[in-house]
Formats: sequence, structure tokens, C-alpha cells
Amino acid sequence: MNPAAFRESVTAWLAGHADELEPFRARPFTVLAEHVERLRPFHRRLYDAGFTRAGWPADSGGSGGSALLRGVLYDEILAAGYDLPRGFEFAEIIVPTLFDFAPHLARRHLPAILRGDLLMCQGFSEPGSGSDLGSLTTRAVPDRDGFRVTGQKTWIGNGAVADWCLLLARTGDRASRHRGLTMLWIDMTSPGLSTRPIAMADGTDELAELYLDDVAVPAEHVVGGVGQGWAVAMHLLQFERSTWAWQRQAHLLATLSTAAREGARPAALGTAFLDALALRALSLEALLTTAAGHPLGPASSVTKLVLSTAERSALDARLSAGDPILTDPAGHHAAEWFHARSTSVFGGAAEIQRDLVADRVLGLPRGSA
Ligand SMILES: Cc1cc2nc3c(=O)[nH]c(=O)nc-3n(C[C@H](O)[C@H](O)[C@H](O)COP(=O)(O)OP(=O)(O)OC[C@H]3O[C@@H](n4cnc5c(N)ncnc54)[C@H](O)[C@@H]3O)c2cc1C
Repeated sequence: MNPAAFRESVTAWLAGHADELEPFRARPFTVLAEHVERLRPFHRRLYDAGFTRAGWPADSGGSGGSALLRGVLYDEILAAGYDLPRGFEFAEIIVPTLFDFAPHLARRHLPAILRGDLLMCQGFSEPGSGSDLGSLTTRAVPDRDGFRVTGQKTWIGNGAVADWCLLLARTGDRASRHRGLTMLWIDMTSPGLSTRPIAMADGTDELAELYLDDVAVPAEHVVGGVGQGWAVAMHLLQFERSTWAWQRQAHLLATLSTAAREGARPAALGTAFLDALALRALSLEALLTTAAGHPLGPASSVTKLVLSTAERSALDARLSAGDPILTDPAGHHAAEWFHARSTSVFGGAAEIQRDLVADRVLGLPRGSA
């Protein structure tokens, strides 16, 4: 099906089922597990209607077609004022990388992911390693049947609700830095693995800490080969920095339409619309690149920087409408405001993205003032 026809069928379905879909309208959450469970039936309805399979490989549980179809689905769900079920976020960030580096795992899990039955998380950051992932210390020690993993991860989105985790661990010695890392696919119900939600400034418990104590991981759950973890992580981050941003631009444009109705100041609104449309253009370019089967490349860092700018200016526009963002710390607006601020940190901090753009996109000489 072409994207235009798919868009028509999604919009018609959403409009035709508006009454039944009322419980899934966008609204604030504080407890992630409740939010996930509230939206799970929505994900299932979308699956039963045939929409979530579009744009994923037909030989793995999808119904085929271009990745653009997935973009159309997110666009329409968010534009119609619904929350996007949680599974879609990490599906866009993690699944393309699974297909590229561990297709046997992607094929095994895709059907459950598309039904909304399987949630994932991405376990890279540690208390002492964020921007500098080459220093991470979570160890994966070879064992008869694979690896035993011990260590701690932090700031893990979905960490307390996920079923599976794509986790970066050290298999080489510390001096091996980036070369000594391996990506593992870990069952979150494994003995020795526990999680603790982090109470966030925005009032949610969206992120979590992960504790791993001698967790067994079979050899077939290595993603991309032993010692290839850095390459796999950098590959994944390109999706987080660009194609995933498509979901955010749809959310921001819906937010700005509301702000316009609520009387946001024209100058703030204009700036915010321009930023959101720039994000739409860049993330569409990334979707088209993926759909054509081409690598995303370092330009994804530009998209990530524009994402941070667009998130901030959208919320600033809402503030200009007298939105009680700051005076309503328990509400949706406060959560959105804090989220906007955090976008210059997750997926690679803004300073690091600027370095990457200078070095790998613009080719500027290193160390120049
Ligand atoms: C909302 C949110 C969600 C997140 N979700 C996840 C997740 O799902 N999975 C996961 O693994 N992690 C996640 N993270 C963690 C995130 O990836 C890290 O916070 C991020 O990489 C920065 O690492 P850090 O916090 O250790 O800060 P640091 O690396 O200590 O950086 C602190 C500051 O120093 C700057 N800095 C560091 N190094 C340099 C340098 N070489 N040059 C210039 N400036 C530098 C940074 O830009 C930053 O401003 C999340 C974080 C947030 C806020």
C-alpha cells in the first residue's frame, strides 16, 4: 500500500472508532507501568486493524512496504490527539538495529513487538559512563553457554517495565575502551536482574536503574559479534537521533496547534512552528533514507540538535499562552517542560552532537578555536 492510501485508511479508522478510542486520548501520567497498561489495548486494537505490521518485513511478522508507512501511522495517531503506545518508541530505536546485527532475534520477537506485547529498553549508560561509553564497567564474562553479566546501568527509559534489554557490556579489559564492548540481548526476567525506578523531576518514574548480578546470557543473544558493541551502539544511536524524532515532531505539531487555539504569542508560536517543521523535514529525510535502505550517517546528529531546539521552543510557545507549566508541577505541562529540557541530554548530549557535526559532517579541523 502506498503511504497516501495508508494515511487515508488510518485516519478513517481513527475517526470511525473515536468513541471506543476515547480512553487513549493524550493525558498526563506519573506511574509508567499504569501508562503502559492503559495504552496496551490501544496498541492491540491498532495491531488487529492491521496497522502496526505495515512497514516491517513481511517474512518476520510485518506486512511489508516502506518504513514511511510506520511514520504515517505515528503522524496520524498523534495528530488525532491520542497517546502513542510506549512500544512504538523503542521499536523505532532498537528493532532496525536488531535486524541489521541479529536478524534471528528480530524475526523471533517482531510479532510480539507489533502486537504491543513486548517492551524493550536500551541499557547503555552507567553511573560513571554517559557521554564516554568507552569507560563503562558492566562486565560480561565468558561462560560455558555464553556470558555472565554483572554491573549497574542507570537512566534507562522503560527500564522497570521492559521485557527485553539491549545492553552494552565490557568483554575486553578496561584499557580496551570502545574495542572491548559487546552488545547483548537480555531477558529482563533473568535471575540476578533487578530494577529500581528513578523518581524524576517531572514527577514520573519513566527511567530506572538496572542491577545485574551474574546474569546468564546465551551466546546466541550476542548482537553483532563479540567486541563489536561500540559499532552496534553507534548504529542504534543514529535511529534514536533521527528517525525516532519523527514521532516527536508529530507530537510537537499537535501541541502547537493547541497552543495556537489557546492564544500563544504569535512570535513564539511562529518560531516554534518553524523549528517543528525543520524537525519534520529532517526526520522525514531520515525516514526516506532508511526506506531506501541507505545508512543514516552523522547527519543524524544535526537532527538531534534540531529536536532539542524544537522541543524547547514548542514548550516556550505554550508558556507564552499563559499555560500553567511552571505553576502546575504535578500536571502534564510540567512533565512536558522537563522532558523538553532533557532532550539535549539523552541519545547523546548536545555538546557531543556539536562535536560530531563539526568533525564528521563539516570536516572542521580538530582543536581549532
Ligand atoms: C530523559 C533521559 C532518558 C535517558 N534514557 C536513556 C536510556 O534509555 N538508555 C541509556 O542507556 N541512557 C539513557 N539516558 C542517559 C543519557 O544517554 C546520558 O545522560 C547522556 O549520554 C549523558 O551522559 P551523562 O549523564 O553521564 O553526562 P556526562 O557524560 O557526564 O556529561 C555531562 C555534561 O558534560 C558534557 N560533556 C561530556 N563529555 C564532553 C566532551 N567530550 N566534550 C564536551 N562536553 C562534554 C555533556 O555534554 C554534558 O553537558 C537518558 C537520559 C535522560 C536525561
